[in-house]
Amino acid sequence: MKAILSQPTLLKSHSYIGGEWVGAKSGKTFSITNPANGEHIIDVADLGAEETTLAVEAAEKAQKEWQGRTAKERATLLRRWNQLILDNQDDLATLMTLEQGKPLAEAKGEVAYGASFIDWFADEARRLNGDVIPTFAKDKRILTIKQPIGVVAAITPWNFPIAMITRKAGPALAAGCAIIIKPSDETPLCALALAELAHQAGIPAGVLNVVVGKDAKAIGGVLTGNPTVRKLSFTGSTPVGKLLLSQCAQTVKRTSMELGGNAPFIVFDDADLDAAVEGAIASKYRNAGQTCVCANRLLIQEGVYDAFAEKLAKRVATFKTGDGFSDGVSIGPLINNAAISKVEQLVGDAVAKGAKALIGGNKSAAGERFFEPTILTGVTEDMDIFSNEIFGPVAPLFKFKTEEEAVAMANNTPFGLASYFYSQNIARIWRVSEALEYGMVGINEGIISSEVAPFGGVKESGSGREGSQYGIDEYVEIKYMCMGGL
Ligand code: ADP
Repeated sequence: MKAILSQPTLLKSHSYIGGEWVGAKSGKTFSITNPANGEHIIDVADLGAEETTLAVEAAEKAQKEWQGRTAKERATLLRRWNQLILDNQDDLATLMTLEQGKPLAEAKGEVAYGASFIDWFADEARRLNGDVIPTFAKDKRILTIKQPIGVVAAITPWNFPIAMITRKAGPALAAGCAIIIKPSDETPLCALALAELAHQAGIPAGVLNVVVGKDAKAIGGVLTGNPTVRKLSFTGSTPVGKLLLSQCAQTVKRTSMELGGNAPFIVFDDADLDAAVEGAIASKYRNAGQTCVCANRLLIQEGVYDAFAEKLAKRVATFKTGDGFSDGVSIGPLINNAAISKVEQLVGDAVAKGAKALIGGNKSAAGERFFEPTILTGVTEDMDIFSNEIFGPVAPLFKFKTEEEAVAMANNTPFGLASYFYSQNIARIWRVSEALEYGMVGINEGIISSEVAPFGGVKESGSGREGSQYGIDEYVEIKYMCMGGL
């Protein structure tokens, strides 16, 4: 396996704590496998609560010195890390396709996207300005400074094994925080490779730690229970997010929660249909539908429903499903067998209640964890697929008559992460943008994520924003200083 990496040292089996590569005290390991074919990649050390506590202690120790550095010094090290990530784009993408399954071209794209957060926040480090506020009394002056919140924990998912880490580690380190990262046990290899590159960049020991283990509950218990950790940034499912929020309440930690979505993708009669089809493809089928901003419900106005379905089907019919390393593949495997079962169940329920598979609808012949790119027509609100995040390459097409109906359908969910709509009418564009109860709206656009824009949700999709000029606020405290006797 190492042979296919140009820098074989990027393949790690141990966790990274206090600048050292450490194994599990128990000696336990677990196997990382390739979702495309089930093949074993490597055994990694299976750390638990005890080692996580050591990581918190290492971070606490490192934090003080890191915080005391100038913003420029921190920015310089972050830039070096960013450059190393870009220099090793091919190796990181290879690791990602191996452990996560996404097509290699998409994996390369994610490496660049992931690095962009380090680059962006390297700049933001130097803009953490305080204020001088007009006074309320003649003998007083009012100032604010921004200080790092302290030790930060990040718990991240498998669907973006690099970007979900860098969009937390970038702002945390820029602000002067030390961080402990618990990546998903499905995709720890990318996280460990990032740690190796941080090490090579000269980021001091203990400032960035990666703890890999199968017992998420035990590791999460320390990260949410230890009072030294002052902030948790989590990306994952809503049920786990709710649990972690309640655990964090005991020590009143700051939290950022990037949870599930149920994105509506609305196509109005006045849309540019070809653009809507391209947007739907980009939003729906990227990463085989396994992103929290993937279009989950395609709401199509009755006048263009059949034409849209037909155009979409024509495009989807050209997709190649298979191993992410094969040329021309645009749909890779789903992450595991449970993901396949869930998609099968949702499609099965819809079909049983009257939906039709215009294309696809079944497991793919490409392998055990592959699902055919699918379009379902005649889908209605009573089907499970309306209210569940699919996380697979399935586009259910719902029909609506009026704008009011579309907005009501779109908002009829406890989630509120990404939403999309296509229309050429400027008045409607403003009306619908304002009416959608979502943190993000793509208007005539299916791809909205960028390091320069604030990513985040409302309602049960979470709290806090990642990226943009706002992202670093999640990692600082504002201190108010009142100078009297003047
Ligand atoms: P997904 O469906 O994307 O895997 P999860 O919410 O299950 O979403 O997982 C996201 C991250 O949360 C992963 O790193 C996972 O290991 C971790 N996780 C899952 N359960 C817990 C828990 N009880 N405590 C802490 N972390 C957890």
